Amino acid sequence: MRLVEVEISSFNRRFRVELDDGAAVEAVHYRGDSLCVSSQVGCAVGCPFCASGANGLARQLSADEIWAQVAEARARGLQVVRTTVSGVGEPLHNQRAVREFVLRCRAERIAPSLTTSGGPLERLTEWFALPHNGLTISVHAGSEEMRRALVPRGPALQPLFACLAGALPGQSRSRRKKIALAYLLIEGANDSDAELDAFSARAAPLALTVHLYAYNPLAAGAHRAVSRARYEAAYARLCAAGLRVRMSSQARIEPNGGCGTLVALRPGLSA
Ligand code: SF4
Repeated sequence: MRLVEVEISSFNRRFRVELDDGAAVEAVHYRGDSLCVSSQVGCAVGCPFCASGANGLARQLSADEIWAQVAEARARGLQVVRTTVSGVGEPLHNQRAVREFVLRCRAERIAPSLTTSGGPLERLTEWFALPHNGLTISVHAGSEEMRRALVPRGPALQPLFACLAGALPGQSRSRRKKIALAYLLIEGANDSDAELDAFSARAAPLALTVHLYAYNPLAAGAHRAVSRARYEAAYARLCAAGLRVRMSSQARIEPNGGCGTLVALRPGLSA
C-alpha cells in the first residue's frame, strides 16, 4: 500500500491510497496534525451527493489497511495526533476493523473520531461506550422523505432519534459531549425552512452539538451548495430553535476537504 499526493491546498493535503489489490481510496491530512482515513472501498449507503459510494461497496478495508494510512502519512513526516474515520465508507458497516483501528489509535496516543450515517442502530449504541474522541451522526434531513432521498440506506429518522433518546441518558456528561449530529446543507433539497424546523424539532431534546456543513459540489454531480447568505440564515434558524450549532471549519470548506468528495476506485477502474 502507498500514499500518492493528489492535491494540496491551504489547509489540506489529499492522498490517493493505493491498495495492494489495485483498488484505491483516499485520505486527507488537514490542519497540520489530523488525518481523515477511509474504512471501505466504496460504500453501500448510497448518498446521492457523495462520490465515495457512487459505485456501491467493493470490499472492506482491514484494520491493518486503515492503520497503514496513518503509518504512511507519518512516514512522510506528517504529524498525526488526531484521526477521523470519515473518508470513504460507512464505519459501522466495517465494525470489527474500525473498532480495532480506534483501539490502536488510543494505544498510540492518537485521538480517534468517526462519522456515521447511524446504522445498524445496535452497532451505533455500541460506539457510545467505545473509547472514541468524537462520534458524529450524519442526519441531513428533518423529514423521513428527505432522509430516504439523501441517506437511502441509513436508518430512518424515527428509529434513529428514538435510539439516541434511549441511549444518551445512560452516558456520562463527558461522553455525551463527544457525540454530535451533522447536517449538510444542499441547495433545493434540505435547505428549506420547513426541513430545518423539522430537524430542529427532532434534535433539540437531545441537546447535542450540531455541525452545519457547507456542501462542496462534485464536478459531475447534480447537487449544489447553498449561497453564503442562505448558509448563515440556516445557521441562525437552527440557533434560534435552541440548537448548539457549529459552522464548517476552513479545512472542510476547501474543495478537497468536504463531505462526500473522496473517491473509491475498484481494481482495474481508473478515475
Ligand atoms: S456520505 Fe458517507 S455514508 Fe453516504 S455514501 Fe458517502 S461515504 Fe457512504
